[in-house]
Amino acid sequence: MKLILANPRGFCAGVYMAIDVVDQLLEICPGETVYVYHEIVHNRYVVERFRGRGVIFVETLSEVPASAIVVFSAHGVSPAVREEARLKSLISIDATCPLVTKVHAEAIRYARKGFQILLIGHASHQEVVGTRGEAPSSIQIVEHPKDIPHLSIIDPDKLVYLTQTTLSTDDANIVIHALKMAFPNIKEPPVSDICYATTNRQMAVRTIAPSCDLVLVVGSKNSSNSVRLTEISANVGTTARLIDDHTELCDAWFTGVNTVLVTAGASAPEDLVRDLVTCLVDRFGAEVEQHDVYHEDVEFGLPGTLKGLMRKRNVDPENRRVVRGDSGEALRDWLSQRGIGMRSVDLTVRGEPVHPEA
Ligand code: SF4
Repeated sequence: MKLILANPRGFCAGVYMAIDVVDQLLEICPGETVYVYHEIVHNRYVVERFRGRGVIFVETLSEVPASAIVVFSAHGVSPAVREEARLKSLISIDATCPLVTKVHAEAIRYARKGFQILLIGHASHQEVVGTRGEAPSSIQIVEHPKDIPHLSIIDPDKLVYLTQTTLSTDDANIVIHALKMAFPNIKEPPVSDICYATTNRQMAVRTIAPSCDLVLVVGSKNSSNSVRLTEISANVGTTARLIDDHTELCDAWFTGVNTVLVTAGASAPEDLVRDLVTCLVDRFGAEVEQHDVYHEDVEFGLPGTLKGLMRKRNVDPENRRVVRGDSGEALRDWLSQRGIGMRSVDLTVRGEPVHPEA
């Protein structure tokens, strides 16, 4: 069997930052309970590991005692939640991904200019709930083209669409096309709201999956961008399975399978990918290759709210941010210590991906 690892895969800059925020709080606030509003990122392992270190995850702020520390997750929250935290005198630390904050800012700006905003996304997802809360009377959610006839439009010339950051680019394009057909003068966001990490991970799957028999996506079922990777794979004709870890593998999936692509959603830890790789090598004697479609080097600094708390606790926030290394190189070293080789295949051309057969 050939085992291909997609690069990029796994943690994005926003997830690294959000996890780092909780790590830093546990370090600088020993003895204090750290509360996190919703899952810090949508991954079962990340959440369980923090629970094991005493972090309490809550679904409403009524579960948080007055004056306690509460972290807002990477998906962002609405202004109403921020205000509720203020009224309870909570110490709010905002781990919202800056790319989600950018969509919030666009929503506020267009609402102030009197635009109606059509937000393409999944209505119940935390990110969409938070963005919608910025201008609830101006925002309507569009999940699917069939929602368009039910929209309540005042002036079709004063419309803009925005999107959730973790959508399938394939699906989003279908909805955007339908919106443009229905409302030819609809404005677009200045830059795509679907973030770089979502776009790159999907492009890696779109590029590599056609030459594979099976795609394994490491990620949790409630992770939007992980589920979208399975959909992109299905769109190019390759069956994909979403698994939290290697223990969910099923022998029947591998009948007649010669080439497997392994990738991971933006909230899935790399150690789960490593365990999956060694499991597949042990079971099938797989040869390992990493196919590089993009080299990512995006990093986000610690949020200002955390830096402010650090200063109050006499901790210098400068240079506290953990710098991450290259995950491909780390995996190569890790596999080599176990006697497993890994070949790299460069599919990047001046930053643009190409198909292996091109
Ligand atoms: S997937 Fe994109 S928007 Fe979400 S945390 Fe990562 S970088 Fe930010």
